[in-house]
Amino acid sequence: MSQYDLGIRCGILTTMKSGEVDEVKDQFIGVNGANITKVSLWSEGLEDQCSQFVDASDKLVMPGLINAHTHLAMTLFRGLEDDVPFHTWLFERILPLEVELVDEDFVEAGTELALLESIRFGVTTVSDMYFFTDKVAQSVDKSGLRAFIGQTWSQYPMPEDEKLGRDKAKLFTEFYEKYGQHPRIYPSLAPHAPYSCDDDIWKETVGLAKKYGALIHTHVSETAQEVEDSVKQYGKTPVQRLKDLGVLKHAICAHSIHLSDEDIKIYKEEGASMIYNPDSNLKLSSGVAPIPKYIKEGVPVAIGTDGCASGNNLSIIGAMNLGTKVQKLFNNDNTAMTANEAMRSATMDGAKALRLSDRIGSIEEGKFADIIVVDLSEPHMKPLHSVAGQMVYSANGLDVDTTICHGQVLMENKKMKTLNAEEIYKKVENYRGKIQESLKKLI
Ligand SMILES: [Zn+2]
Repeated sequence: MSQYDLGIRCGILTTMKSGEVDEVKDQFIGVNGANITKVSLWSEGLEDQCSQFVDASDKLVMPGLINAHTHLAMTLFRGLEDDVPFHTWLFERILPLEVELVDEDFVEAGTELALLESIRFGVTTVSDMYFFTDKVAQSVDKSGLRAFIGQTWSQYPMPEDEKLGRDKAKLFTEFYEKYGQHPRIYPSLAPHAPYSCDDDIWKETVGLAKKYGALIHTHVSETAQEVEDSVKQYGKTPVQRLKDLGVLKHAICAHSIHLSDEDIKIYKEEGASMIYNPDSNLKLSSGVAPIPKYIKEGVPVAIGTDGCASGNNLSIIGAMNLGTKVQKLFNNDNTAMTANEAMRSATMDGAKALRLSDRIGSIEEGKFADIIVVDLSEPHMKPLHSVAGQMVYSANGLDVDTTICHGQVLMENKKMKTLNAEEIYKKVENYRGKIQESLKKLI
């Protein structure tokens, strides 16, 4: 009988347990079931006590990355009409294509591609907001990843309505009953945004959040226009309105770009967190989120990629790279967002934002074994002066070598263990054809 189900020999271990990028050499991680049960100095012979062993003695081992905001199935719209004017892109391309094409098969193909990409890039937790939650959950279950899966709400019609109906509270309740006890799936409530959801929707989701202890995942103040419209219509900023509706106590707010200092204080008081999506915010020219102000106020800053229609890929390493640099430029201060802060956003702060920091976000005994191994052998990873600098300013997602979630090895030495890439690519190619056919009718 082995003492550990899984053991990892770590050349360099970054635990992130203090929120700082620590670097300890020659460590051992022991895993039993889903949990980390031992973190200690490596010693010869430990390998023999492990049923499964990962030798990362010449590599970096760190916590799995957290993508706190995405729309997984939108991978199928990656690279589609990227540079047409925003209004045309959204209202004459993406939304009509969703109405025509999004069904359960579409969600399955797009979600599986996204999960494959996430595992490849070392992302072990995703927070999704899309349609047909049951399909998303089936794919997540198969992949081995950890996911918050959001039931979307909107006062406007949605692609799933014809099949599933408009009673989203009923859909969420059924979804929760089915998956609420799943070890890696966390059903969440996803009212789309303040401008697309009336007060009744917000009140309904707050009631469900309280009843089930579920997270409310939404988009807040992504554009300046949205804030202006809210002040005109309600006499309040979107943040003030959500506070008055009791939403923020349960909320994780994607984008959160156009907030006043007073709005940021409200986040802090209410316990809300924000998700920084630099790729999407820059590509859609939405604006630059005031990250230094959130950090100063002590509001958890998570990081996300947004969906691939706007963010184009699901690399959190890429988001850290762009996200820090744009803060430096925008604030005219090269310390405005540091590599250490970006690493914290992608691990511990992401976990805090999702209210799961007691189980994920760092490598510590008692936490879930969500762990990645990073290859240090390529030229751009040498020499290694600092893990933070290397991971944020030099690495890319493809440097991830091994991805472990909930104690299960999902990718080892860059080889997938749970998902079949060739099968997924066939489904994706089929949808590429369908999307191109539909697009011809729109242009
Ligand atoms: Zn989004």
